[in-house]
Amino acid sequence: MNYNAVIAQEEIKLRLRRQVVEGRVPHAQLFCGPEGTGKLAMAMAFASALLCENPQDGAPCGRCKGCLMTAKAAHPDLHFVFPVFKRKGQSGDPVSDNYIREWREQLAETPYFDHASWLTRIGVENQQSMIYAAEADEIVRKLNLVAAQGGFKVMVVWLPELMNIAAANKLLKVLEEPMGRTAFVLVSNTPERLLTTIISRTQRIEFKPLGTQQVAEALMQRNALQADDAQHVAHLSDGSYTAAVKLLQVNRDEALFFDLFVLLMRLSYMRKIKDMSEWADQVASWGRERQKLFLDFCQRLVRENFIYNFRQSELNYMNERESEFAVKFARFINERNVYGIMDELSAARRDIEQNVNPRMVFFDFALKMIVLLIQ
Ligand SMILES: [Zn+2]
Repeated sequence: MNYNAVIAQEEIKLRLRRQVVEGRVPHAQLFCGPEGTGKLAMAMAFASALLCENPQDGAPCGRCKGCLMTAKAAHPDLHFVFPVFKRKGQSGDPVSDNYIREWREQLAETPYFDHASWLTRIGVENQQSMIYAAEADEIVRKLNLVAAQGGFKVMVVWLPELMNIAAANKLLKVLEEPMGRTAFVLVSNTPERLLTTIISRTQRIEFKPLGTQQVAEALMQRNALQADDAQHVAHLSDGSYTAAVKLLQVNRDEALFFDLFVLLMRLSYMRKIKDMSEWADQVASWGRERQKLFLDFCQRLVRENFIYNFRQSELNYMNERESEFAVKFARFINERNVYGIMDELSAARRDIEQNVNPRMVFFDFALKMIVLLIQ
């Protein structure tokens, strides 16, 4: 990965390139700052430069064997540590290498992602993830290996704040006694949660939120957005490219949510049980986070349709498609059923959070709508 994969942050790029040119690479650096500012992308570019056989002005050449291997996050001297979780029935604590395939897939897709996306990728949403003590033993073991290519050994630690205390103490020991040509890069969103003794062993580089214009340009180049749309999304992103991309996903999802809500209302009204069961299957196939967003969306639409009946347009917040739908649908949401429907949606959300079988939750909700809609 090259520095042009990192959005903006030019000063930091310059500083890291200078370290390589001058041959003064700190033993441990702490990249910290808000989510979505490019810390991990920067760490990958920096790692590439350190492992490149022929760096150009402190930047990776992009062509040598080292660069080709780091591009796949598969260089033998590049090691990763990130939060993982313990699968049911797994004996002993899990380590990052158990999830290296998913990690490489994620990096190949984009180095701009957050903790929640990572958990979704490795198939956990409601469970604790962390960096276990076993991981620290792995770090020591890997640092004791001779560098395969005879150069640097690079250790990228993503979200070190999620280390359990035993792991953190072991890492501290490693940082206190540098071994050979090793470069640690700690990538942290919340450095205030790290041990102060760890912080004092690192050189800190602060990543500031991106400018609205920088996010907008990245959205146009990387996500093929038109200028107007890019500006709009960038404004809502708080300087986080990761957040901006998530907003895009939400916009796409909302169109789908709307279609599914309309479909369910129609099917319930016509009592098409078999189709309703298929509807429930579709929603049940999603991840839980998305299911919860869908239920929130339904709540909003039910509330908006109820309000629509009062003909107070300044109290309504619906887009064009939703407003058109309300013209015919609003009369079905009234004072006799609005609280019943809202309660059912809240109950469904609670069930999803508590890991009740989503197929049951959504089919059950669909069936209740048959009764509620005609009240
Ligand atoms: Zn190279």
